Amino acid sequence: MSLIVQKYGGTSVGTAERIRNVAERILDYHRQGHQVVAVVSAMAGVTNRLIELASDVTGPDHTPTEREMDVLLATGEQTTIALTAMAINAMGGKAVSLTGAQAGIETDGVHTKARISNITPSEVHRFLDEGNIVILAGFQGRTPEGRITTLGRGGSDLTAIAMAAAIDADLCQIFTDVDGVYTCDPRVVPVAKKLDEISYDELLEMASSGTKVMQSRSVEFAKKFGVRFEVRSSLNDNPGTLVREETMSMESVVIRGVSLERDQAKVTITGVGDHPGTASKIFGPVAGANVIIDMIVQNVSKTGITDISFTLNKADLAKAETALKPVLAELGESVTMEAEDGIAKLSVVGIGMRSHAGVAAQMFETLSAAGVNIQMISTSEIKITVTVSEDQIETAAQAVHDAFGLAKA
Ligand code: ASP
Ligand code: MG
Repeated sequence: MSLIVQKYGGTSVGTAERIRNVAERILDYHRQGHQVVAVVSAMAGVTNRLIELASDVTGPDHTPTEREMDVLLATGEQTTIALTAMAINAMGGKAVSLTGAQAGIETDGVHTKARISNITPSEVHRFLDEGNIVILAGFQGRTPEGRITTLGRGGSDLTAIAMAAAIDADLCQIFTDVDGVYTCDPRVVPVAKKLDEISYDELLEMASSGTKVMQSRSVEFAKKFGVRFEVRSSLNDNPGTLVREETMSMESVVIRGVSLERDQAKVTITGVGDHPGTASKIFGPVAGANVIIDMIVQNVSKTGITDISFTLNKADLAKAETALKPVLAELGESVTMEAEDGIAKLSVVGIGMRSHAGVAAQMFETLSAAGVNIQMISTSEIKITVTVSEDQIETAAQAVHDAFGLAKA
């Protein structure tokens, strides 16, 4: 008998029928003799609808307090736990629902993005020991004073990982609407294959470059506490991808996967002086406008004058331009700004890069042979990212995926 924590996302519990499917699946595991804690999200679309309702009642001139937002949003998951437990009980199983607070999930008081500070899972253990399946609300907790908090969008993943750590589960399974982590998005690269395993760091790098499988904060948490977990589909019985600490044999694979991210934009400031304070004059106002930037490239200057480029989400481009316009004059007479969208990012990720030379060279050679122009380049220890024109991203991804031998056998 093992102790399993499972997590089912919003799509997996999106309708009454899907909740019944999930209930059956949970019951199957329980009947095989396992103890099961199943974390569920709000039904698909519910959290967004609650957010809309909140703004409908306050009107455009007011924002609801974050305290009340948490009271509101926590109801999405509370609905699902009750329905899932009812479905299991109707099928002849024995299930009880627990809210985050009831399950002993304690957080700090930062409403809408609270951090878990402590878990006292005595109720979880008590119900499990009595032979129950425990259905646990994702995404929520309580402060020491008893206020309801939520953990940030996508936070049910974190509930599952943290609870798995707290009760020392033998297995943590994240059930979702994809079969696992792929070498690349199969809609772009049909020969992409599902990975049997991936390290925490690789998954984090892939997530930050466009492969959104689960909330990154949860992966970081899992890495920190050494929680191994499996990402797999709630719609079939295929084995998923095991996410775990790295092993020696993982290093022998140079590239684990290729990520792509569309809808990027680029801003270039030309003719700025190469002296202290320039970068901060540019990025201060951008940060002030709450724009998240990604790659930054500054040229080496021979003449004391240089260019600085950075990328950002296309949706933030107008905000960044508005923030930068007043700064240009301050930076010097000859300073200009060029803004451009229609850009995409392509990244190759793999811990094997640490011990293999020539990965960048091979990637660039492949792109050149495919006739794809590289605009910007950035690297980390286990990732190389380039930006290319968005209309070439699919060609680029296919060529690189192929060149690194990632296709299905
Ligand atoms: N229901 C929350 C959200 O939509 C939490 C989750 O689904 O993980 O963000
Ligand atoms: Mg969700």
